[in-house]
Amino acid sequence: MTSEWQRLQTKLPEWVEQSRHEYIHGKVAAYIPELSKAPADALGVVVMNGAGETVVAGDTEIQFTMQSISKVFTLILALMDNGEDVVFSKVGMEPTGDRFNSMLKLELVEPGIPFNPLINAGAIAVSSLIRGNSPEEKFARVLQFFRLLTHNDTLEYDQDVYDSESATGHLNRSLAYFLMEKGILRGHVEDVLEVYFRHCAVKLNCTDLARMGLVLAYNGRDPVTGIPLIPRRYVQIAKTFMTTCGMYDASGEFAIQVGLPAKSGVSGSIMTMVPGRYGIGLVGPSLNRMGNSTAGVHLLEKMSRDLDWSLF
Ligand code: GLN
Repeated sequence: MTSEWQRLQTKLPEWVEQSRHEYIHGKVAAYIPELSKAPADALGVVVMNGAGETVVAGDTEIQFTMQSISKVFTLILALMDNGEDVVFSKVGMEPTGDRFNSMLKLELVEPGIPFNPLINAGAIAVSSLIRGNSPEEKFARVLQFFRLLTHNDTLEYDQDVYDSESATGHLNRSLAYFLMEKGILRGHVEDVLEVYFRHCAVKLNCTDLARMGLVLAYNGRDPVTGIPLIPRRYVQIAKTFMTTCGMYDASGEFAIQVGLPAKSGVSGSIMTMVPGRYGIGLVGPSLNRMGNSTAGVHLLEKMSRDLDWSLF
């Protein structure tokens, strides 16, 4: 056992308790009404190593929806389905510096495509690229892929969160109509949004998220089973986007303070990794202004600083 692993085992519960208080500086997301039921002061984290062993601290028993973290994996699936040329004809490679659901700058990347696949507009364009003859078939493929990555066959989407977002997602709907008008979306707006809202509503826990991060940390091969799941090139693309855009308009600050590829979701979840070593899944539902978990970001800063994890 490495001394780093031992330090994690001793210190992680303490760090979680110290970071938990940070929830008071944020708010649980309420624009998707169902998400507002999450416990504001919860904080849980799972770190998983290449043998599938875990260090666990805090409220790791709670389940939550993936929200924007799902965008990393729908991007990967779209790349596996279509290749780079097709995907990057519909979505760009640049950070925006704006909020994730912003309507600003939609048209500034030539030839009028969303800036990147991790903002909502870009992720909606990516959802339309998933192979399948119907929204049901497309989502079934997404879910199957998520199950493979988490090694968890019970993974499902949360019907209440899906219904809640589908009923109130006017902004995403307007982004999708805009993309349709520009010829970026294939098919029908409601069909594309059905796939998008469903993959955002996939429910899991910190261990599942850590396992997904672990596959990225090992360049696409699940180190526990030895099975290759994602081509290395697509992992490289996903990790680059996570570094430049994964924490939205706080990605620059996160790169300085933590220095790891990461992706957050409005459920307060964050998936990150230490390349070649660990996958990390955490949840802390109270969000800062940028839509990232306040306690979660605080905790990752502490961990990265103490264990010298920054890649930079
Ligand atoms: N489903 C959410 C939305 O489309 C995802 C956003 C997020 O997690 N930042 O608004």
